[in-house]
Amino acid sequence: MAGVPVAPPAFDPVHSAFASDAVGSRRRLRGWLLRSRSSGGILFFVLRDRTGTLQVTAKRDRLGAEAFAAAERVQVEGAVQVEGTVAADARAPGGRELRADRIDVVHSGEAFPIFADQTEEFLLDKRHLAIRSQEHVAIFRVKATLLRALREFLAAEDVLEMTPPVLTGNPAEGGSEAFQIDYFGRPGYLSQTAQLYLEALLVPNERVYALTPSFRAEKSRTPRHLTEYLHLEIELAWCDLNDLLSFIERMVASAAHTVARERAAELTQLGRPPEELLALTPPFPRITYRAAIERLRAQGLPVELGSDLGTAEERALTLEERAPIFVTHFPTRLKAFYMLRSPGDPETVEAADLLAPEGYGEIVGASARETDIGLLIERLRETGADPATYEWYLDLRRHGSVPHAGFGLGVERLLRWILRREHIRDTTPFPRTPSRHTP
Ligand code: ATP
Ligand code: MG
Repeated sequence: MAGVPVAPPAFDPVHSAFASDAVGSRRRLRGWLLRSRSSGGILFFVLRDRTGTLQVTAKRDRLGAEAFAAAERVQVEGAVQVEGTVAADARAPGGRELRADRIDVVHSGEAFPIFADQTEEFLLDKRHLAIRSQEHVAIFRVKATLLRALREFLAAEDVLEMTPPVLTGNPAEGGSEAFQIDYFGRPGYLSQTAQLYLEALLVPNERVYALTPSFRAEKSRTPRHLTEYLHLEIELAWCDLNDLLSFIERMVASAAHTVARERAAELTQLGRPPEELLALTPPFPRITYRAAIERLRAQGLPVELGSDLGTAEERALTLEERAPIFVTHFPTRLKAFYMLRSPGDPETVEAADLLAPEGYGEIVGASARETDIGLLIERLRETGADPATYEWYLDLRRHGSVPHAGFGLGVERLLRWILRREHIRDTTPFPRTPSRHTP
């Protein structure tokens, strides 16, 4: 609004001390203490806020004995406000420091329990504090940008975000991996996938997606399974497998490029050169399941036609790759009941998994969906399910059933590869695994 005076911001961001004209100017900063030491009446500490870190020095003579003593008592991760003059100093990290003439202690805090060389288990117990580390900060900034990049791509493609439930009355894909809960005395389940709901929302909207948690009661302790993960699921009407795969590769490349451009510093800090992501260009290589099995057998792996691709097989297929690859046309009996049987070959389905390179393995599961109600019921029976429990879903094939296809992408799986993390738990602030659901 014109004419309304705007008060100058009371505090400056820490990174403002590194501006080219900052030396000699005054700053008021606030944040948390990364580390400190005091000797001979001079206190050195590193101050952190969301924009960066800066060395601060304070002299007892300048602050006064009482204020100096209070500042000395501030623990690692204590909170302070400081005022002073920016100086150039070659010994300070980044070549700048703030010479403080005032320090206000906001919260001096207790001794911070996290320091170097602690066990992974201890750090997971203290996860609520461990996530303040520079490494975690960088990871979750990349994740935030990745989520925004995915949503921006989908908005540009005119795909509408939907909000399906995560509490359900039936497990979507059989009971073994579903968490059961007590729903007022009746069984309820935590959603393993939003797909069936998205298929219902598809008809009026044609292009829909959801970004919701999925829950899998997988007891296997692998570096790529969480029991709760963020699932990006998409359904597109009038779409076949070929169209779908080109959509997926454009989405993955676009999101990787955005992250590389906007989070180059964090990627570099975390060991992924951004140029590697910028080099990703669609189309991604495609091989059939049959060709994949032949390739693995030629490498000496003990696999048979008809067996599923596990961690070891996906690793062997992608170890030497630099871009993701699609494995297509899996055997029908390995895949879910709703996948479309290939025209001319009912033994395979119009399905594909996208495998991340460098050994990381599956990040997307995709397929064209079966539209014929008779075939759906037949496949449900074959998998031992009772078609009656899918009654509402079968209704979708009774009213305006059209060709459509969709996929699910595990956000933490994608991020694990982008950031080259050994374990998927690093990609989520509060990981849920078989042995842990706290803090
Ligand atoms: P996997 O064989 O690796 O267990 P899946 O075949 O069970 O995967 P889908 O049911 O196709 O996976 O789920 C779609 C996507 O969700 C997967 O491609 C993957 O990216 C992600 N995903 C599946 N299970 C998990 C999990 N337990 N933790 C994290 N992400 C997962
Ligand atoms: Mg699984």
